[in-house]
Amino acid sequence: MDEFVVSARKYRPATFDTVVGQRSVTNTLKNAIKTSHLGQAFLFCGPRGVGKTTCARILAKTINCERLSDNIEACNECD
Ligand SMILES: [Zn+2]
Repeated sequence: MDEFVVSARKYRPATFDTVVGQRSVTNTLKNAIKTSHLGQAFLFCGPRGVGKTTCARILAKTINCERLSDNIEACNECD
């Protein structure tokens, strides 16, 4: 059997720029990372399907990245 990937993971956006319809959120998170003004905690609130988990996963990946791009996106290559 080919490697099975759940659709929720297969189609989940992997970068801030590929998140659809939440530009204000992704820009705010990017600016927080860029200026090193990260809060102690982030609350992602809203109805299902608006991108809470997606944005949280991208945020976690990005702040742990060792080689951020100029566009404040994770490199997807580091450990
Ligand atoms: Zn990286």
